Amino acid sequence: MSIKGIAASSGIAIAKVYKLATPDLSFDKKKVENTEAEVERLNKALEISKKELEQIKEHARKSLGDEHAEIFSAHLLILGDPELINPIQDNIKNNNINAEAALEETTNMFIDMFKAMDNEYMRERAADIQDVTKRVMAHLLNVDFPNPALINEEVVVVAEDLTPSDTAQLNKQFVKGFTTNIGGRTSHSAIMARSLEIPAVVGTKTIVEDAKKDDLIIVDGIDGEVIVNPSDDQVETYKQKQADFEKQKEVWAQLKDEPTVSADDQHVELVANIGTPDDVAGVVNNGGEGVGLYRTEFLYMGKTELPSEDEQFEAYKSVLEQMGDKPVVVRTLDIGGDKELNYLDLPDEMNPFLGFRAIRLCLERDDIFRVQLRALLRASVYGNLKIMFPMIATLDEFRQAKALLLEEKDNLTSEGVDVSDNIEVGIMVEIPSTAVIARQFAKEVDFFSIGTNDLIQYTMAADRMNERVSYLYQPYHPAILNLVNNVIEAAHAEGKWAGMCGEMAGDSIAIPILLGLGLDEFSMSATSILPARTQIKDLSKQDMASFKEQLLSMDTADEVEQFIREKTNQ
Ligand code: PEP
Ligand code: MG
Repeated sequence: MSIKGIAASSGIAIAKVYKLATPDLSFDKKKVENTEAEVERLNKALEISKKELEQIKEHARKSLGDEHAEIFSAHLLILGDPELINPIQDNIKNNNINAEAALEETTNMFIDMFKAMDNEYMRERAADIQDVTKRVMAHLLNVDFPNPALINEEVVVVAEDLTPSDTAQLNKQFVKGFTTNIGGRTSHSAIMARSLEIPAVVGTKTIVEDAKKDDLIIVDGIDGEVIVNPSDDQVETYKQKQADFEKQKEVWAQLKDEPTVSADDQHVELVANIGTPDDVAGVVNNGGEGVGLYRTEFLYMGKTELPSEDEQFEAYKSVLEQMGDKPVVVRTLDIGGDKELNYLDLPDEMNPFLGFRAIRLCLERDDIFRVQLRALLRASVYGNLKIMFPMIATLDEFRQAKALLLEEKDNLTSEGVDVSDNIEVGIMVEIPSTAVIARQFAKEVDFFSIGTNDLIQYTMAADRMNERVSYLYQPYHPAILNLVNNVIEAAHAEGKWAGMCGEMAGDSIAIPILLGLGLDEFSMSATSILPARTQIKDLSKQDMASFKEQLLSMDTADEVEQFIREKTNQ
């Protein structure tokens, strides 16, 4: 059976299905005579769950770092908390009921109590108790509970969706690929898959229903296709495709240490998007000329509290040092949308993507923002740091953010701390209002980085996470091209540079267009760098520039795509 989806991370994976879904945990409530034996059964399930969590925590700590491991410490605390465990045991003894029923009744009571509290942190504890209870329940019922961090054989992960923290637990050695029912190319699970270099197809709508545990499955992350229980012939075909892809990668690798120059000798910069200091190795291996977007929010996620100034300083310093004198553009905290921080007590919103997020949150919670700015400023002497602010909608927001940065710089200097004097300060252009008046912004910022993932969602009014409206997610739409062109022209008119760090920057149809529009810096998943460099080598910037007016006045995205395919033989 073959299912179409969205190609989210390239490569071919062929392995057994591993289903990442909560198993059926239904049970019957029963009267029991021997309550001692029932308590014993409960204790055993608690013990096994603890051991499992210890293992997962250790695994997460080793492969992903302390921050990712912390969530499991919280779960272990719950399992060891007598205030929760004693009432479950008492419930068995006093009411002569089975362990499953006692576990559910008692934890539900705590969950309801926490959920009713007027405090997001406590409400999140309710979610933690719920998580832990499911694990214990699975052991009581003797059913498999999925632990992606503990996978130790080659598999393809099949799930409804993967949260960024699920994705962060996947061990590349065993997880050969993944595929999901929902999500799009710019959902954060897809972005993480590319930085882990795991083939992925998302947005299949039905793969969870179509594939069973241990079925053989092929994930074709090049053409966005998934095949469940392939024939022998299909396996052979895809093994060949996998081998061809590996060969292709060797050809690309020849350009690893070369600069990026077009056929008519024009240089552009190809840099990478990263989420953690560990991703820098991939940037270097793929010949990145710098980091064009360091998404710092991953430092804040999967934790129980805000990262300290020192912790952040170490992360920024590590990235800067690893990149030497190459540029590193660090984006300040961009939380919100699909990236939540459980421990911040933020109200639920009707439209989180249009809500209290990113720079909006940082300007109001300047206590949080200043810590990050100080960490960045302290790290600035270890490399070539540039700072950019996300989700800037007005000049006033930029001015306020920059003023806070300068204030913290003064504070550090008067404390005798060294801070670099050459930090460029720019903004992400991902809100249409900013793209439209880029001319005014260009007078004040040092650079622009166009965030097309959001710019497209806001311009087309199409949720980037929603596959039902993914047909509106059109990077080549003339409206988008006009906005992008406006930003690049505005930057150049003021002698500034313009980059792009949305997924569009690594797209093979968009690359010729952007080259022609004069984009200076292309920031993409590390694995897209070498294919892009290879492509640009054969493109004439001047030829592409000559199509500019024609492209900007086209009627539809299809027309643009057709035109580029013809001109560039794709
Ligand atoms: C963007 O919006 O294009 C972008 C690069 O930021 P993110 O994907 O993290 O929202
Ligand atoms: Mg964005």
